[in-house]
Amino acid sequence: AKAEARGSQRRFAPDMEAAAQAAAALLAELPEAIEQGAIEPYFQPLVALPARRLIGFEVLARWPHPQRGMVSPAAFIPLAEEAGLIGPLTEALLRRACLAARDWPMPLTIAVNLSALQLSDEGLTPRLEDILAETGFDPARLELELTESALIGDLDRARAALLRLKQRGMRLALDDFGTGYSSLSHLRALPFDKIKIDASFVGRMSEQPECRSIVGAVIAMAASLGMATVAEGVEREAEAALLDDLGCAIGQGWLFGRPMPAEAVTALLAGPAPR
Ligand code: C2E
Ligand code: CA
Ligand code: CA
Ligand code: CA
Repeated sequence: AKAEARGSQRRFAPDMEAAAQAAAALLAELPEAIEQGAIEPYFQPLVALPARRLIGFEVLARWPHPQRGMVSPAAFIPLAEEAGLIGPLTEALLRRACLAARDWPMPLTIAVNLSALQLSDEGLTPRLEDILAETGFDPARLELELTESALIGDLDRARAALLRLKQRGMRLALDDFGTGYSSLSHLRALPFDKIKIDASFVGRMSEQPECRSIVGAVIAMAASLGMATVAEGVEREAEAALLDDLGCAIGQGWLFGRPMPAEAVTALLAGPAPR
């Protein structure tokens, strides 16, 4: 067994080395990619249930790389955080998303992901406000998505930072709910407008009654705290039907639309009105 373990280690080591080299190469290219706008905002529909009326889009970062193809944000967001570049990257994406949204025929919402690191940056609120002012985008149309990892540590500080954003008219969503650590008393104390139920629960809902119960309980709890719920990763009709039954307000997932570039959004919104 020992020899086997050593053998498998030998087999994996080159892969890990290759992965580390790829990450190092991406990291080296990242500052220029951000500066030159090579990383683009894609837009994924958010729909009001049960009618599936389009209410906005989540902004998701994409890096179309000349050699590597489309690079996933799972690969470069952690590198941007590590390199201290997540602020500039987020700001560049927000600016481009606001500019794109200016041409839309109706005032839909955009939801932008913030890294946990950004919440402890004192300059965050004024920089976001500058971008909104510069692009003429109404803060009430901007939603900021934060994961539970942004809330660990000093709860009072996190709360103060969230309130600053709220006071400027922006809305807040708690992302990936159920995957991290957040106590119910945290939730009650923090000024979130929405809770996004993680795709891992939504995806198992049809087969696993306990997942359905969890989703139902989260929706009820959110409602009692005055928050709306968004179901992430909705891929199948059966899931949408269950979410309707459970009273989930908003859906997101491949069933309703994939992330798309700004031009595709413009075309979608210019197209014939949905039934
Ligand atoms: P997230 O914020 O939870 O975003 C939702 C992810 O689920 C996106 O992956 C989206 O493409 C994917 N998704 C949406 N619908 C479906 C579905 O029906 N089925 C499946 N299997 N997946 C679906 P993506 O775009 O690869 O982003 C991954 C993560 O990277 C995001 O997870 C977010 O944590 C992070 N991220 C993306 N863009 C940004 C950004 O601009 N800033 C920051 N800080 N993080 C970002
Ligand atoms: Ca998100
Ligand atoms: Ca999420
Ligand atoms: Ca996620």
